[in-house]
Amino acid sequence: MKFLVKVSSAGRTGCITEFSNVFKNKSFKTPMFMPYTQGGTIPHLTFNTIKRLEDQNMLFLQTLPTIVEFKDAVKKQGKGLNTFVGLPEYPFHISVQTQNDLTPTGYNVNRGVSVWSYGQKRLLTPEEFMDIIKIYKPVSYQALCDSDTPLGCSKKRLNKAVDNSIKFLDECLEEHQSCKELKDVAIFGSIQGCYDSFLRKKSTEATVSRAVDGFIIDGFHINGSDTENIDFLKMKQILHEILPLLPEDKPRILHGAFEPQIILEAIKCGIDIFDSSYAHKLTENGEASIFPLNAIPDYILNDVADPKPKRAKYCCVLPLKDDLYKDDFNPIIETCECYTCKHYVRAYIHHLLVTSELLANILLMIHNHHHFCKFFENIRDVLSSTCKNNL
Ligand SMILES: [Zn+2]
Repeated sequence: MKFLVKVSSAGRTGCITEFSNVFKNKSFKTPMFMPYTQGGTIPHLTFNTIKRLEDQNMLFLQTLPTIVEFKDAVKKQGKGLNTFVGLPEYPFHISVQTQNDLTPTGYNVNRGVSVWSYGQKRLLTPEEFMDIIKIYKPVSYQALCDSDTPLGCSKKRLNKAVDNSIKFLDECLEEHQSCKELKDVAIFGSIQGCYDSFLRKKSTEATVSRAVDGFIIDGFHINGSDTENIDFLKMKQILHEILPLLPEDKPRILHGAFEPQIILEAIKCGIDIFDSSYAHKLTENGEASIFPLNAIPDYILNDVADPKPKRAKYCCVLPLKDDLYKDDFNPIIETCECYTCKHYVRAYIHHLLVTSELLANILLMIHNHHHFCKFFENIRDVLSSTCKNNL
């Protein structure tokens, strides 16, 4: 994997190329997001509906807890995870935890990390984890790490998470470097330490000194509802402390179902890659994203001390379950070109939601995914205009 990047005062624009094996010709412009998946596919969407999505250049985010049970079957078939789940044309990245589910806390130990699959705990050692990576054949993956640092956890736990993550990274790297099949696969190291400046620095320095292809700024939350506890100003301070310590030519990932305003601020700090767990969260809540795309330059080019005041300025979400929409015959967004907005009105989606029809989530997911794509496309356009030479 290769990453070319240009840096301006407003953020970074880059391009990821040269993936492994059959995806050699794929490229992805950053800032970008990886479509969030559960059980191998984008929630609520089948192969046919995924094909209806406008932007087909996708790097899927496969979340390990939701696919770990497939291991034996994928091994038997021998063609990797994306062929097994019926999506062979899409490259994918593997994350250790699932962004939309709260990770149960207190189950990581010195020899491995617990992932929860269908209510059952599975303790994965680095050896077992690397076995899964070899069988699933991703183009990139997050090395096994301990990110069990919920807000308010003890300093001892934070220390442990940092030390465990470095130890697991070393064990993953040893296997990664000795395995021919993983020669062109990218490995990402995770930087832990929650809001502790000293431990963040320690974790950053240790991870930078290893032969990783990119970084995941991890450990601000334990996924699911914990993401809502994020103290953005404190997170921003940590990002400002650690991102300058990272080499510029390696991509940085920040996982979590963050609101668009937080994503925009994180991009300004220097993050390149996110995931679409926010779009999924909205869909599960019966909500449609209407974040105004024309507000993006305002966010990116103007400095704001706290993104919160702007939340009141722009309406970002339509709660379509609300009675307010039962006679609303407009599409979710008049100018949106997604399949949902071209064919359906708010009143019909409201009806589908209150009668618990499965189609409601399918239509919402298509719109929320599409709107998220447009959100990132607009961000890239604004950032490109701030860089002297476009890529
Ligand atoms: Zn739409």
